[in-house]
Amino acid sequence: MPYDYDNQNIFAKILRGEIPNDTVLETEHTLAFNDIGPQAPVHVLIIPKGPYVSFDHFSAEASDAEIADLNRSIAKICQMTGVAPNAGGNGYRAIANCGTDGGQEVPHFHIHILGGHALGAMLARS
Ligand code: 5GP
Repeated sequence: MPYDYDNQNIFAKILRGEIPNDTVLETEHTLAFNDIGPQAPVHVLIIPKGPYVSFDHFSAEASDAEIADLNRSIAKICQMTGVAPNAGGNGYRAIANCGTDGGQEVPHFHIHILGGHALGAMLARS
């Protein structure tokens, strides 16, 4: 089945410059910006500029250049924010929510980088 991308989602609007964002890093294929509702002292969202709905969509259909660019951007963000252990930090969590069961709110693929304090258990049941 084809992936269904909604170009009216909030991150598509950010990429088109229709709504503002607090950019941390921009590269040819990737944008990273602070989450509007941070859930940790460091909470950065890293998104591809291309129209991918989820991690699996991105992994299946993005070009090698897009995939490499996003991954290299994650490494840079972990250094820039200081959460990486080799940058003096105590670590971080990388999260990609997907679909209803994954709790994805915005249907444009994004990785959350969370850190700056101990993040507790990986999953909380609600
Ligand atoms: P999801 O649940 O889809 O994995 O996460 C979506 C994230 O996007 C949430 O953490 C939410 O706070 C963030 N978010 C939603 N709207 C905006 C926005 O307009 N600007 C920014 N910077 N973050 C947003």
